[in-house]
Amino acid sequence: MSKHHPATIAVRTGIESDTQHHAVVPPIYLSTNYGFPEFGEVPQYDYTRSGNPNRGLLETALFELEGGEGAVVTNCGTSALNLWVSAFVGPDDLIVAPHDCYGGTYRLFNTRANKGDFKVAFVDQTDPDAVAQALAKKPKLVLIETPSNPLVRVVDIEELCQKAHQVGAKVAVDNTFLTPVFQKPIELGADFVIHSTTKFINGHSDVIGGVVITKTAADAEELAWWGNCIGATGTPFDSYMTLRGIRTLGARMRVHEESANSILPFLQKQSLVNAIYHPSLPDHPGHDIAKKQQRGFGSMLSFEFAGSEEQLKAFINALQLFSLAESLGGVESLICHPATMTHRAMGEEALAEAGVSHKLLRLSIGLEEAADLIDDLEQAFAAAGAL
Ligand SMILES: *Cc1c(COP(=O)(O)O)cnc(C)c1O
Repeated sequence: MSKHHPATIAVRTGIESDTQHHAVVPPIYLSTNYGFPEFGEVPQYDYTRSGNPNRGLLETALFELEGGEGAVVTNCGTSALNLWVSAFVGPDDLIVAPHDCYGGTYRLFNTRANKGDFKVAFVDQTDPDAVAQALAKKPKLVLIETPSNPLVRVVDIEELCQKAHQVGAKVAVDNTFLTPVFQKPIELGADFVIHSTTKFINGHSDVIGGVVITKTAADAEELAWWGNCIGATGTPFDSYMTLRGIRTLGARMRVHEESANSILPFLQKQSLVNAIYHPSLPDHPGHDIAKKQQRGFGSMLSFEFAGSEEQLKAFINALQLFSLAESLGGVESLICHPATMTHRAMGEEALAEAGVSHKLLRLSIGLEEAADLIDDLEQAFAAAGAL
């Protein structure tokens, strides 16, 4: 395990590893196949679906960052989740997942459970009774997503891992919102960490990717076998790009959070803003847990718009520096209306149950100058207020 801080691991992994020309930055290997030195002698890499030097380096960077023993990089975050369940559950096994998980995760687990591939229970993991009831059914796997999307609810990772382990379940934490710079689930007891690397890990909104990181080498081996079997692995080019994105992870996360911290007090003063959801706020129900298990509060936040639907539309349309788009965690600031965008696949009933209203707006604070972002929000609130 690396003794270095995340920012250092992110910058240094694979640097000066090229033995042919001593390129400081590791080169990209696009080849689909690799020669066998001689008959019967299997090389480290033979075929790119099963392994490639660029994907290998990205996997090393990611498991070192999370403090794990291994990783499998996949072609998207959804396929990382799909790989995880494909490898570890069958038709009789139960998965416990958050009721307010990422919409695509909900759709994946729900659809596959309806086909009979496994059983799933979506529960409010901040409710101890609901958790106890679900764990009494002896699940094989538990998925935690904290902070959750879009309401940034916080789940106590250490506590839930302990309870899950008592009934023999293994736990994965979707760490997409915070990255290992701000939260390291394996240190808190998790068996797996999952990322949509599409978000903060790559950070530039130009690669779709994912990863499952494992606490043990044995689980990594199992996942690598399954990754090759079902064809879930990431491409060399995407791996190269994602490692390039990771180089600045430490610096990016710092500025993302600084800017969120400047924008929050501004939002609190707005008459068109009702509740604000961010774990840094002392009245946030997960504030104390977040302080205990996170090294930072992150830059994802959401709020209830206090005006009419017409004013909400005017507010969004007036914004110049927040693009109305799905995804998150890139250098560019985004605004999203979860009920009709990222989370629409859940359906009205599940949305209501998860507490996602039609007035909820989610912000991904990017790396523009915070003062410019605040000016932009201010003029958009004024435009909406004038209606
Ligand atoms: C985006 C996202 C995913 C899915 O990842 P893709 O790369 O879009 O497939 C999973 N979990 C969370 C928390 C996400 O934000």
